[in-house]
Amino acid sequence: MSTTLPDPDVFRSEARAWLEQHGELRAAATGDGSDPDWGTGSDNVAVFHNRSEAEEAEILGRAQAWQRKKFDAGYGMLSWPVELGGRGLPMLYVRIWNSEESRFVIPDAGELPPTSMGLIAPTVAAYGTDAQKQRWVPPIMRQDEYGCQLFSEPAAGSDLASVVTKAVRDGDEWVLNGQKVWTSGARFSQWGLAITRTDFDVPKHRGLTAFMVPLDAPGVEVRPIRQMSGGACFNEVFLSDVRLSDADYRLGNVGDGWRVALTCLGFERDHSGGGSPVGGSLKRVLGAARHFGLTSDPHIRQTLADLYAHEKMAQFTNRRAAAALKAGQTPGPEGSLSKLMWTANMKRVSDAISSILGPRLIADTGEWGTYAWGEHVLGAPGYRIAGGSDEVQRNIVGERVLQLPAEPRVDKDVSFSEAQRLARKA
Ligand SMILES: Cc1cc2nc3c(=O)[nH]c(=O)nc-3n(C[C@H](O)[C@H](O)[C@H](O)COP(=O)(O)OP(=O)(O)OC[C@H]3O[C@@H](n4cnc5c(N)ncnc54)[C@H](O)[C@@H]3O)c2cc1C
Repeated sequence: MSTTLPDPDVFRSEARAWLEQHGELRAAATGDGSDPDWGTGSDNVAVFHNRSEAEEAEILGRAQAWQRKKFDAGYGMLSWPVELGGRGLPMLYVRIWNSEESRFVIPDAGELPPTSMGLIAPTVAAYGTDAQKQRWVPPIMRQDEYGCQLFSEPAAGSDLASVVTKAVRDGDEWVLNGQKVWTSGARFSQWGLAITRTDFDVPKHRGLTAFMVPLDAPGVEVRPIRQMSGGACFNEVFLSDVRLSDADYRLGNVGDGWRVALTCLGFERDHSGGGSPVGGSLKRVLGAARHFGLTSDPHIRQTLADLYAHEKMAQFTNRRAAAALKAGQTPGPEGSLSKLMWTANMKRVSDAISSILGPRLIADTGEWGTYAWGEHVLGAPGYRIAGGSDEVQRNIVGERVLQLPAEPRVDKDVSFSEAQRLARKA
Protein backbone atom coordinates (compact mmCIF):
# COMPACT_ATOMS: atom_id res chain seq x y z
CA MET A 1 0.00 0.00 0.00
CA SER A 2 1.33 3.45 -0.87
CA THR A 3 2.06 5.57 2.15
CA THR A 4 0.78 8.74 0.52
CA LEU A 5 -2.10 8.47 -1.88
CA PRO A 6 -2.20 10.74 -4.91
CA ASP A 7 -4.87 13.41 -4.86
CA PRO A 8 -7.79 11.83 -6.81
CA ASP A 9 -8.25 14.94 -8.98
CA VAL A 10 -4.56 15.05 -9.83
CA PHE A 11 -4.64 11.31 -10.57
CA ARG A 12 -7.63 11.85 -12.87
CA SER A 13 -6.01 14.66 -14.82
CA GLU A 14 -2.74 12.71 -15.18
CA ALA A 15 -4.66 9.64 -16.37
CA ARG A 16 -6.65 11.77 -18.81
CA ALA A 17 -3.49 13.39 -20.17
CA TRP A 18 -1.86 9.98 -20.63
CA LEU A 19 -4.95 8.58 -22.36
CA GLU A 20 -5.17 11.58 -24.67
CA GLN A 21 -1.56 11.09 -25.64
CA HIS A 22 -1.60 7.31 -26.07
CA GLY A 23 -5.23 6.29 -26.66
CA GLU A 24 -7.71 6.77 -29.45
CA LEU A 25 -10.87 8.66 -28.53
CA ARG A 26 -14.07 6.77 -29.34
CA ALA A 27 -15.21 7.96 -32.73
CA ALA A 28 -18.97 8.15 -32.31
CA ALA A 29 -20.44 10.39 -29.64
CA THR A 30 -23.46 8.10 -29.58
CA GLY A 31 -24.86 9.16 -26.24
CA ASP A 32 -24.34 5.87 -24.42
CA GLY A 33 -20.86 5.62 -25.88
CA SER A 34 -21.33 2.10 -27.14
CA ASP A 35 -23.32 1.18 -30.24
CA PRO A 36 -23.37 2.92 -33.60
CA ASP A 37 -26.70 4.09 -35.03
CA TRP A 38 -28.79 1.78 -37.22
CA GLY A 39 -27.10 0.99 -40.51
CA THR A 40 -23.68 2.37 -39.62
CA GLY A 41 -20.53 0.46 -38.66
CA SER A 42 -20.42 -3.26 -38.03
CA ASP A 43 -23.66 -5.13 -37.40
CA ASN A 44 -21.88 -7.92 -35.52
CA VAL A 45 -23.78 -8.82 -32.35
CA ALA A 46 -22.22 -12.25 -31.79
CA VAL A 47 -22.10 -13.60 -28.26
CA PHE A 48 -19.34 -16.06 -29.21
CA HIS A 49 -17.36 -14.87 -32.19
CA ASN A 50 -16.92 -16.88 -35.36
CA ARG A 51 -13.32 -16.06 -36.17
CA SER A 52 -10.41 -17.85 -37.75
CA GLU A 53 -7.35 -18.60 -35.65
CA ALA A 54 -5.44 -15.81 -37.45
CA GLU A 55 -8.21 -13.25 -36.81
CA GLU A 56 -8.40 -14.30 -33.17
CA ALA A 57 -4.63 -13.89 -32.79
CA GLU A 58 -4.73 -10.46 -34.41
CA ILE A 59 -7.52 -9.27 -32.10
CA LEU A 60 -5.67 -10.59 -29.06
CA GLY A 61 -2.56 -8.80 -30.33
CA ARG A 62 -4.41 -5.47 -30.25
CA ALA A 63 -5.65 -6.10 -26.70
CA GLN A 64 -2.12 -7.07 -25.64
CA ALA A 65 -0.61 -3.94 -27.17
CA TRP A 66 -3.03 -1.69 -25.27
CA GLN A 67 -2.58 -3.56 -21.98
CA ARG A 68 1.22 -3.45 -22.28
CA LYS A 69 1.19 0.32 -22.85
CA LYS A 70 -1.04 0.75 -19.79
CA PHE A 71 1.02 -1.63 -17.70
CA ASP A 72 4.33 0.01 -18.57
CA ALA A 73 2.88 3.44 -17.71
CA GLY A 74 1.71 2.18 -14.30
CA TYR A 75 -2.02 1.92 -15.09
CA GLY A 76 -2.25 -1.86 -15.51
CA MET A 77 -2.33 -2.99 -11.86
CA LEU A 78 -3.59 0.00 -9.92
CA SER A 79 -5.04 -1.84 -6.93
CA TRP A 80 -2.52 -4.71 -6.85
CA PRO A 81 0.16 -4.87 -4.15
CA VAL A 82 3.38 -2.97 -4.84
CA GLU A 83 5.50 -6.13 -4.37
CA LEU A 84 3.75 -7.70 -7.36
CA GLY A 85 4.26 -4.68 -9.57
CA GLY A 86 1.02 -2.89 -8.66
CA ARG A 87 0.49 0.54 -7.15
CA GLY A 88 -1.42 -0.53 -4.04
CA LEU A 89 -4.16 2.06 -4.63
CA PRO A 90 -7.73 1.82 -3.27
CA MET A 91 -10.57 0.93 -5.66
CA LEU A 92 -11.53 4.60 -5.97
CA TYR A 93 -8.54 5.07 -8.31
CA VAL A 94 -9.54 2.04 -10.38
CA ARG A 95 -12.98 3.56 -10.83
CA ILE A 96 -11.49 6.91 -11.82
CA TRP A 97 -9.24 5.18 -14.35
CA ASN A 98 -12.12 3.08 -15.74
CA SER A 99 -14.36 6.10 -16.20
CA GLU A 100 -11.59 7.98 -18.04
CA GLU A 101 -10.55 4.97 -20.12
CA SER A 102 -14.15 4.28 -21.16
CA ARG A 103 -14.06 7.39 -23.40
CA PHE A 104 -11.31 5.75 -25.45
CA VAL A 105 -11.16 2.72 -27.72
CA ILE A 106 -10.39 -0.33 -25.54
CA PRO A 107 -9.61 -3.28 -27.82
CA ASP A 108 -12.06 -6.04 -26.93
CA ALA A 109 -10.62 -9.53 -27.36
CA GLY A 110 -13.47 -11.51 -25.78
CA GLU A 111 -13.34 -13.71 -22.73
CA LEU A 112 -9.68 -14.71 -22.52
CA PRO A 113 -8.07 -11.47 -21.24
CA PRO A 114 -10.69 -10.90 -18.48
CA THR A 115 -10.57 -14.59 -17.49
CA SER A 116 -6.79 -14.54 -17.38
CA MET A 117 -6.38 -11.23 -15.55
CA GLY A 118 -9.58 -11.29 -13.48
CA LEU A 119 -9.77 -14.95 -12.42
CA ILE A 120 -6.44 -16.73 -12.86
CA ALA A 121 -4.05 -13.96 -11.71
CA PRO A 122 -5.91 -13.19 -8.44
CA THR A 123 -6.24 -16.91 -7.66
CA VAL A 124 -2.48 -17.33 -8.10
CA ALA A 125 -2.02 -14.28 -5.87
CA ALA A 126 -4.23 -15.86 -3.21
CA TYR A 127 -2.56 -19.31 -3.13
CA GLY A 128 0.84 -19.06 -4.81
CA THR A 129 4.21 -19.08 -3.12
CA ASP A 130 6.15 -15.81 -3.46
CA ALA A 131 8.08 -17.30 -6.39
CA GLN A 132 4.86 -18.43 -8.10
CA LYS A 133 3.22 -15.03 -7.66
CA GLN A 134 6.26 -13.32 -9.20
CA ARG A 135 6.37 -15.94 -11.96
CA TRP A 136 2.74 -15.59 -13.05
CA VAL A 137 1.02 -12.43 -11.86
CA PRO A 138 3.02 -9.70 -13.67
CA PRO A 139 3.21 -11.52 -17.05
CA ILE A 140 -0.50 -12.35 -16.91
CA MET A 141 -1.41 -8.78 -15.94
CA ARG A 142 0.72 -7.43 -18.80
CA GLN A 143 -0.94 -9.96 -21.14
CA ASP A 144 2.45 -11.39 -22.03
CA GLU A 145 0.90 -14.73 -21.05
CA TYR A 146 -2.65 -15.99 -20.67
CA GLY A 147 -4.20 -18.46 -18.26
CA CYS A 148 -7.45 -20.42 -18.63
CA GLN A 149 -9.62 -22.58 -16.35
CA LEU A 150 -9.13 -26.34 -16.62
CA PHE A 151 -12.06 -27.20 -14.35
CA SER A 152 -14.99 -28.92 -16.13
CA GLU A 153 -14.82 -32.53 -17.25
CA PRO A 154 -17.26 -34.69 -19.20
CA ALA A 155 -18.80 -35.91 -15.93
CA ALA A 156 -18.08 -32.94 -13.67
CA GLY A 157 -19.55 -29.50 -14.42
CA SER A 158 -22.09 -28.20 -11.92
CA ASP A 159 -20.78 -30.85 -9.55
CA LEU A 160 -17.19 -29.74 -10.05
CA ALA A 161 -15.96 -31.54 -6.93
CA SER A 162 -16.49 -34.81 -8.83
CA VAL A 163 -13.52 -34.28 -11.18
CA VAL A 164 -11.56 -37.45 -11.92
CA THR A 165 -8.48 -36.06 -13.66
CA LYS A 166 -5.87 -37.82 -11.61
CA ALA A 167 -2.59 -36.41 -10.27
CA VAL A 168 -0.23 -39.01 -8.80
CA ARG A 169 2.90 -38.08 -6.87
CA ASP A 170 6.18 -39.45 -8.25
CA GLY A 171 9.14 -38.14 -6.24
CA ASP A 172 9.42 -34.39 -6.74
CA GLU A 173 6.91 -34.53 -9.54
CA TRP A 174 3.24 -35.19 -10.21
CA VAL A 175 1.88 -37.15 -13.17
CA LEU A 176 -1.45 -35.91 -14.52
CA ASN A 177 -3.92 -37.94 -16.58
CA GLY A 178 -7.45 -37.03 -17.61
CA GLN A 179 -9.71 -34.94 -19.80
CA LYS A 180 -10.99 -31.40 -19.35
CA VAL A 181 -13.74 -29.87 -21.49
CA TRP A 182 -15.33 -26.52 -22.41
CA THR A 183 -12.00 -24.82 -21.74
CA SER A 184 -12.45 -21.28 -23.06
CA GLY A 185 -9.38 -19.77 -24.68
CA ALA A 186 -7.09 -22.80 -24.23
CA ARG A 187 -5.72 -22.49 -27.76
CA PHE A 188 -4.26 -19.08 -26.95
CA SER A 189 -3.27 -19.72 -23.34
CA GLN A 190 0.15 -20.61 -22.05
CA TRP A 191 -1.26 -21.83 -18.70
CA GLY A 192 -4.25 -23.76 -17.43
CA LEU A 193 -5.34 -23.75 -13.80
CA ALA A 194 -6.33 -27.39 -13.33
CA ILE A 195 -8.31 -28.97 -10.50
CA THR A 196 -7.25 -32.60 -10.16
CA ARG A 197 -7.97 -35.52 -7.83
CA THR A 198 -5.01 -36.54 -5.70
CA ASP A 199 -6.90 -38.67 -3.16
CA PHE A 200 -9.84 -40.98 -3.93
CA ASP A 201 -10.11 -42.23 -0.33
CA VAL A 202 -11.49 -39.07 1.28
CA PRO A 203 -14.84 -37.27 0.65
CA LYS A 204 -14.86 -35.64 -2.75
CA HIS A 205 -14.18 -32.01 -1.74
CA ARG A 206 -11.15 -33.00 0.33
CA GLY A 207 -9.20 -35.02 -2.25
CA LEU A 208 -8.51 -32.26 -4.78
CA THR A 209 -5.30 -30.36 -5.61
CA ALA A 210 -4.70 -27.46 -8.01
CA PHE A 211 -1.88 -27.09 -10.54
CA MET A 212 -0.80 -24.49 -13.06
CA VAL A 213 -0.31 -26.62 -16.16
CA PRO A 214 1.96 -25.33 -18.97
CA LEU A 215 -0.14 -26.02 -22.05
CA ASP A 216 2.94 -26.68 -24.16
CA ALA A 217 4.13 -29.49 -21.83
CA PRO A 218 4.57 -32.96 -23.37
CA GLY A 219 1.30 -34.88 -23.00
CA VAL A 220 -1.05 -31.86 -23.26
CA GLU A 221 -3.34 -31.85 -26.28
CA VAL A 222 -5.81 -29.02 -26.95
CA ARG A 223 -8.67 -29.80 -29.36
CA PRO A 224 -11.09 -27.02 -30.43
CA ILE A 225 -14.86 -27.64 -30.22
CA ARG A 226 -16.95 -26.14 -33.04
CA GLN A 227 -20.11 -24.29 -31.84
CA MET A 228 -23.51 -24.22 -33.57
CA SER A 229 -23.15 -20.45 -34.03
CA GLY A 230 -19.76 -20.94 -35.77
CA GLY A 231 -16.39 -20.27 -34.16
CA ALA A 232 -14.54 -22.48 -31.71
CA CYS A 233 -14.19 -20.60 -28.43
CA PHE A 234 -14.01 -23.78 -26.34
CA ASN A 235 -11.72 -26.76 -26.29
CA GLU A 236 -11.21 -30.21 -24.97
CA VAL A 237 -7.87 -30.56 -23.21
CA PHE A 238 -6.38 -34.02 -22.86
CA LEU A 239 -3.67 -34.65 -20.26
CA SER A 240 -1.65 -37.82 -20.83
CA ASP A 241 1.20 -38.51 -18.41
CA VAL A 242 1.91 -34.80 -18.02
CA ARG A 243 4.81 -34.43 -15.56
CA LEU A 244 4.89 -31.33 -13.35
CA SER A 245 7.38 -30.40 -10.66
CA ASP A 246 5.74 -30.16 -7.24
CA ALA A 247 7.56 -27.02 -6.15
CA ASP A 248 6.94 -25.06 -9.34
CA TYR A 249 3.45 -25.99 -10.48
CA ARG A 250 1.33 -27.09 -7.49
CA LEU A 251 -0.87 -24.17 -6.45
CA GLY A 252 -1.91 -24.30 -2.80
CA ASN A 253 -1.57 -27.25 -0.45
CA VAL A 254 -2.19 -30.86 -1.41
CA GLY A 255 -5.91 -31.45 -0.74
CA ASP A 256 -6.72 -27.73 -0.93
CA GLY A 257 -7.92 -27.77 -4.55
CA TRP A 258 -11.55 -27.18 -3.63
CA ARG A 259 -10.69 -23.93 -1.85
CA VAL A 260 -8.60 -22.84 -4.84
CA ALA A 261 -11.52 -23.65 -7.18
CA LEU A 262 -14.04 -21.78 -5.02
CA THR A 263 -11.80 -18.74 -4.87
CA CYS A 264 -11.46 -18.72 -8.65
CA LEU A 265 -15.23 -19.25 -9.10
CA GLY A 266 -15.87 -16.40 -6.64
CA PHE A 267 -13.86 -14.08 -8.89
CA GLU A 268 -15.80 -15.45 -11.87
CA ARG A 269 -19.16 -14.73 -10.23
CA ASP A 270 -18.04 -11.17 -9.52
CA HIS A 271 -17.13 -10.77 -13.18
CA SER A 272 -20.34 -12.27 -14.61
CA GLY A 273 -23.39 -10.12 -15.00
CA GLY A 274 -21.53 -6.97 -14.13
CA GLY A 275 -23.14 -5.25 -17.04
CA SER A 276 -20.33 -5.73 -19.55
CA PRO A 277 -22.06 -5.70 -22.95
CA VAL A 278 -22.11 -9.10 -24.65
CA GLY A 279 -24.02 -9.61 -27.89
CA GLY A 280 -26.77 -7.24 -29.03
CA SER A 281 -28.05 -4.36 -26.90
CA LEU A 282 -31.42 -2.74 -26.20
CA LYS A 283 -30.28 0.23 -28.27
CA ARG A 284 -29.79 -1.99 -31.30
CA VAL A 285 -33.13 -3.74 -30.76
CA LEU A 286 -34.82 -0.36 -30.57
CA GLY A 287 -33.00 0.73 -33.73
CA ALA A 288 -34.35 -2.34 -35.54
CA ALA A 289 -37.92 -1.68 -34.32
CA ARG A 290 -37.72 1.92 -35.58
CA HIS A 291 -36.16 0.90 -38.89
CA PHE A 292 -38.90 -1.63 -39.63
CA GLY A 293 -41.69 0.74 -38.50
CA LEU A 294 -42.80 -1.47 -35.63
CA THR A 295 -42.75 0.98 -32.73
CA SER A 296 -46.56 1.30 -32.85
CA ASP A 297 -47.11 -2.45 -32.81
CA PRO A 298 -48.71 -3.19 -29.40
CA HIS A 299 -46.82 -6.48 -28.93
CA ILE A 300 -43.43 -4.98 -29.86
CA ARG A 301 -44.03 -1.96 -27.59
CA GLN A 302 -44.77 -4.25 -24.64
CA THR A 303 -41.68 -6.32 -25.39
CA LEU A 304 -39.42 -3.26 -25.61
CA ALA A 305 -40.79 -1.73 -22.41
CA ASP A 306 -40.36 -5.06 -20.61
CA LEU A 307 -36.76 -5.31 -21.81
CA TYR A 308 -36.02 -1.73 -20.73
CA ALA A 309 -37.55 -2.28 -17.27
CA HIS A 310 -35.56 -5.48 -16.72
CA GLU A 311 -32.30 -3.91 -17.90
CA LYS A 312 -32.84 -1.06 -15.42
CA MET A 313 -33.50 -3.58 -12.60
CA ALA A 314 -30.28 -5.40 -13.47
CA GLN A 315 -28.34 -2.12 -13.46
CA PHE A 316 -29.69 -1.17 -10.03
CA THR A 317 -28.86 -4.62 -8.64
CA ASN A 318 -25.31 -4.30 -9.98
CA ARG A 319 -24.97 -0.85 -8.48
CA ARG A 320 -26.20 -2.12 -5.11
CA ALA A 321 -23.61 -4.93 -5.24
CA ALA A 322 -20.88 -2.45 -6.21
CA ALA A 323 -21.89 -0.13 -3.35
CA ALA A 324 -21.76 -3.04 -0.90
CA LEU A 325 -18.28 -3.96 -2.13
CA LYS A 326 -17.19 -0.33 -1.84
CA ALA A 327 -18.45 -0.31 1.75
CA GLY A 328 -16.11 -3.23 2.49
CA GLN A 329 -18.69 -6.07 2.45
CA THR A 330 -17.62 -9.40 1.00
CA PRO A 331 -19.39 -10.43 -2.22
CA GLY A 332 -22.60 -12.29 -1.36
CA PRO A 333 -25.38 -14.09 -3.24
CA GLU A 334 -26.21 -10.88 -5.16
CA GLY A 335 -23.54 -12.12 -7.62
CA SER A 336 -25.94 -15.00 -8.41
CA LEU A 337 -28.86 -12.59 -8.74
CA SER A 338 -26.88 -10.39 -11.12
CA LYS A 339 -25.88 -13.34 -13.23
CA LEU A 340 -29.47 -14.63 -13.43
CA MET A 341 -30.73 -11.17 -14.45
CA TRP A 342 -27.96 -10.76 -17.02
CA THR A 343 -28.67 -14.07 -18.77
CA ALA A 344 -32.46 -13.56 -18.59
CA ASN A 345 -32.02 -10.16 -20.23
CA MET A 346 -29.86 -11.65 -22.98
CA LYS A 347 -32.78 -13.99 -23.68
CA ARG A 348 -35.21 -11.05 -23.63
CA VAL A 349 -33.04 -9.37 -26.26
CA SER A 350 -33.21 -12.59 -28.34
CA ASP A 351 -37.01 -12.78 -28.00
CA ALA A 352 -37.52 -9.10 -28.83
CA ILE A 353 -35.32 -9.12 -31.93
CA SER A 354 -36.88 -12.39 -33.12
CA SER A 355 -40.34 -10.77 -32.98
CA ILE A 356 -39.05 -7.70 -34.83
CA LEU A 357 -37.09 -9.49 -37.55
CA GLY A 358 -39.29 -12.55 -38.11
CA PRO A 359 -37.95 -14.51 -41.12
CA ARG A 360 -35.16 -11.94 -41.68
CA LEU A 361 -33.40 -13.55 -38.74
CA ILE A 362 -32.84 -16.78 -40.64
CA ALA A 363 -32.68 -15.62 -44.29
CA ASP A 364 -29.32 -14.14 -45.20
CA THR A 365 -30.33 -11.39 -47.62
CA GLY A 366 -27.26 -9.28 -46.94
CA GLU A 367 -29.42 -6.60 -45.26
CA TRP A 368 -27.58 -4.76 -42.47
CA GLY A 369 -28.58 -5.66 -38.91
CA THR A 370 -30.79 -8.66 -39.69
CA TYR A 371 -29.22 -12.10 -40.27
CA ALA A 372 -26.27 -11.09 -38.05
CA TRP A 373 -28.59 -11.41 -35.04
CA GLY A 374 -28.49 -15.19 -35.41
CA GLU A 375 -25.15 -15.11 -33.62
CA HIS A 376 -26.76 -13.46 -30.61
CA VAL A 377 -29.81 -15.72 -30.55
CA LEU A 378 -27.76 -18.93 -30.89
CA GLY A 379 -25.00 -17.85 -28.53
CA ALA A 380 -26.96 -16.31 -25.64
CA PRO A 381 -28.09 -19.63 -24.07
CA GLY A 382 -24.41 -20.53 -23.50
CA TYR A 383 -24.13 -17.96 -20.75
CA ARG A 384 -27.05 -19.58 -18.92
CA ILE A 385 -24.67 -22.51 -18.40
CA ALA A 386 -21.21 -20.89 -18.15
CA GLY A 387 -19.88 -19.94 -14.72
CA GLY A 388 -22.66 -21.83 -12.90
CA SER A 389 -25.94 -22.64 -14.67
CA ASP A 390 -29.22 -20.80 -13.99
CA GLU A 391 -30.41 -23.73 -11.87
CA VAL A 392 -27.24 -23.72 -9.78
CA GLN A 393 -27.51 -19.93 -9.27
CA ARG A 394 -31.13 -20.39 -8.15
CA ASN A 395 -29.98 -23.04 -5.68
CA ILE A 396 -27.57 -20.48 -4.22
CA VAL A 397 -30.30 -17.84 -3.96
CA GLY A 398 -32.72 -20.40 -2.47
CA GLU A 399 -30.28 -21.58 0.16
CA ARG A 400 -28.45 -18.37 1.03
CA VAL A 401 -31.11 -15.69 0.55
CA LEU A 402 -34.38 -17.52 1.18
CA GLN A 403 -32.85 -19.90 3.75
CA LEU A 404 -34.54 -22.90 2.10
CA PRO A 405 -33.31 -26.34 3.15
CA ALA A 406 -30.03 -27.31 1.46
CA GLU A 407 -30.07 -29.92 -1.30
CA PRO A 408 -29.48 -33.45 0.00
CA ARG A 409 -25.74 -34.25 -0.30
CA VAL A 410 -25.51 -37.98 0.09
CA ASP A 411 -21.82 -38.18 -0.85
CA LYS A 412 -20.65 -35.63 1.69
CA ASP A 413 -19.26 -37.99 4.30
CA VAL A 414 -18.15 -40.99 2.24
CA SER A 415 -14.89 -41.40 0.36
CA PHE A 416 -15.01 -40.39 -3.32
CA SER A 417 -14.29 -43.94 -4.51
CA GLU A 418 -17.12 -45.32 -2.33
CA ALA A 419 -19.50 -42.58 -3.57
CA GLN A 420 -18.64 -43.51 -7.15
CA ARG A 421 -19.23 -47.20 -6.41
CA LEU A 422 -22.65 -46.43 -4.88
CA ALA A 423 -23.55 -44.16 -7.84
CA ARG A 424 -22.70 -46.97 -10.29
CA LYS A 425 -24.88 -49.40 -8.32
CA ALA A 426 -27.86 -47.00 -8.15
C1 LIG B 1 -19.80 -20.42 -22.58
C2 LIG B 1 -19.15 -21.44 -21.67
C3 LIG B 1 -17.84 -21.28 -21.28
C4 LIG B 1 -17.24 -22.23 -20.44
N1 LIG B 1 -15.92 -22.07 -20.10
C5 LIG B 1 -15.34 -22.98 -19.29
C6 LIG B 1 -13.96 -22.88 -18.97
O1 LIG B 1 -13.24 -22.00 -19.45
N2 LIG B 1 -13.41 -23.81 -18.15
C7 LIG B 1 -14.16 -24.81 -17.60
O2 LIG B 1 -13.61 -25.59 -16.84
N3 LIG B 1 -15.47 -24.95 -17.92
C8 LIG B 1 -16.08 -24.07 -18.75
N4 LIG B 1 -17.41 -24.20 -19.09
C9 LIG B 1 -18.15 -25.34 -18.56
C10 LIG B 1 -19.17 -24.94 -17.52
O3 LIG B 1 -18.54 -24.58 -16.31
C11 LIG B 1 -20.12 -26.11 -17.35
O4 LIG B 1 -20.78 -26.30 -18.58
C12 LIG B 1 -21.13 -25.86 -16.27
O5 LIG B 1 -20.53 -25.87 -15.01
C13 LIG B 1 -22.26 -26.93 -16.28
O6 LIG B 1 -21.71 -28.20 -16.27
P1 LIG B 1 -22.14 -29.33 -17.31
O7 LIG B 1 -22.04 -28.74 -18.68
O8 LIG B 1 -21.36 -30.53 -16.99
O9 LIG B 1 -23.69 -29.58 -17.03
P2 LIG B 1 -24.29 -30.44 -15.84
O10 LIG B 1 -23.63 -30.06 -14.58
O11 LIG B 1 -24.24 -31.88 -16.24
O12 LIG B 1 -25.77 -29.93 -15.81
C14 LIG B 1 -26.78 -30.41 -16.72
C15 LIG B 1 -28.10 -29.73 -16.34
O13 LIG B 1 -28.47 -30.13 -15.00
C16 LIG B 1 -28.69 -28.97 -14.19
N5 LIG B 1 -28.21 -29.22 -12.84
C17 LIG B 1 -27.00 -29.73 -12.48
N6 LIG B 1 -26.90 -29.80 -11.14
C18 LIG B 1 -28.07 -29.30 -10.64
C19 LIG B 1 -28.56 -29.10 -9.32
N7 LIG B 1 -27.83 -29.42 -8.26
N8 LIG B 1 -29.79 -28.55 -9.18
C20 LIG B 1 -30.55 -28.22 -10.27
N9 LIG B 1 -30.13 -28.41 -11.55
C21 LIG B 1 -28.92 -28.92 -11.72
C22 LIG B 1 -27.86 -27.88 -14.85
O14 LIG B 1 -28.36 -26.59 -14.54
C23 LIG B 1 -28.01 -28.20 -16.33
O15 LIG B 1 -29.21 -27.67 -16.82
C24 LIG B 1 -18.00 -23.31 -19.95
C25 LIG B 1 -19.33 -23.48 -20.36
C26 LIG B 1 -19.90 -22.56 -21.24
C27 LIG B 1 -21.32 -22.78 -21.66
